[in-house]
Amino acid sequence: MIWKDYKAEIQEIKLPKIADLNVKLSILREDLIHSEISGNKYRKLKYNLIEAEKLGFKKLLTFGGAFSNHIAATAAAGKLYGFETIGIIRGEELENKINENVTLRFAKQYGMQLYFISREEYRTKHELSFLEQLKSKFPNAYIVPEGGTNDLAIKGCKEILYNECFNYDYLGSAIGTCGTITGLIESSADHQTILGFPSLKGDFITKDIQELTSKNNFTIFNDYHFGGYGKVNEELINFINDFKHLNRIQLDPIYTGKMLFGIADLIKKNYFKNNSSILLVHTGGLQGIEGMNNFLRKKNKNIIE
Ligand SMILES: *Cc1c(COP(=O)(O)O)cnc(C)c1O
Repeated sequence: MIWKDYKAEIQEIKLPKIADLNVKLSILREDLIHSEISGNKYRKLKYNLIEAEKLGFKKLLTFGGAFSNHIAATAAAGKLYGFETIGIIRGEELENKINENVTLRFAKQYGMQLYFISREEYRTKHELSFLEQLKSKFPNAYIVPEGGTNDLAIKGCKEILYNECFNYDYLGSAIGTCGTITGLIESSADHQTILGFPSLKGDFITKDIQELTSKNNFTIFNDYHFGGYGKVNEELINFINDFKHLNRIQLDPIYTGKMLFGIADLIKKNYFKNNSSILLVHTGGLQGIEGMNNFLRKKNKNIIE
């Protein structure tokens, strides 16, 4: 099984409405490493699929919501590396709407079998009884957790950074299930501080990361989730569009848009010393834009350009 060792390109960026940046700001283009297995999901799936093959599994089973980058990436990776894929999707009402939903349609095209469960049942997915039930229903499937985070995912995310990345004072990442930032923390140099921007509401992220790593050179900013996972407002959408006009780089509304918005706010508040250098990881996620735009159109809101 061949997984190429990508070194993502580093590009210097500007920020909308901040004429004189007092810091050096760059972005690591993980979004460009692979056309189908987007950004950090490539890193997170790599060692899981290698392990699944080693153990003799021919099927992958995983979980996600209707716009999940992880579901799309797992479907694509399964197809590319010769696994059948099964996706357990949150929300029974979606069963008849597969073709209206960009992510589910993509997953289906890549051969993923989709099973829809209620939101209540989905909440129990970490419970042993639910997992046992799945294992008996799909006995030959290698189970990848929701969002793809486990020790093997973290191992893959440690491969994001390479020599030039260690020249920066700060590294930044969006956060979902903490696998990516944990890989960055573990592989970072001691002089670096890793800045994390959760896309979810709640103060549990620092504790979750502390359970995954013993290093503590990281800081979490809990003020840039825009109301919670998948939530956006006009200010964020405008920021994403302005950023694209300025840098010709597309951000996604769930993760990287919120991180860049947060960094811009911190810079405005003089959080960073003059001439600090910051490298932000563009984790990808662009497949979710069309779904978000469909939602915004229905509400007569500005869309992502
Ligand atoms: C999944 C995802 C994340 C979150 O990664 P975690 O390892 O779950 O924290 C961040 N950005 C994008 C674009 C993603 O798709």
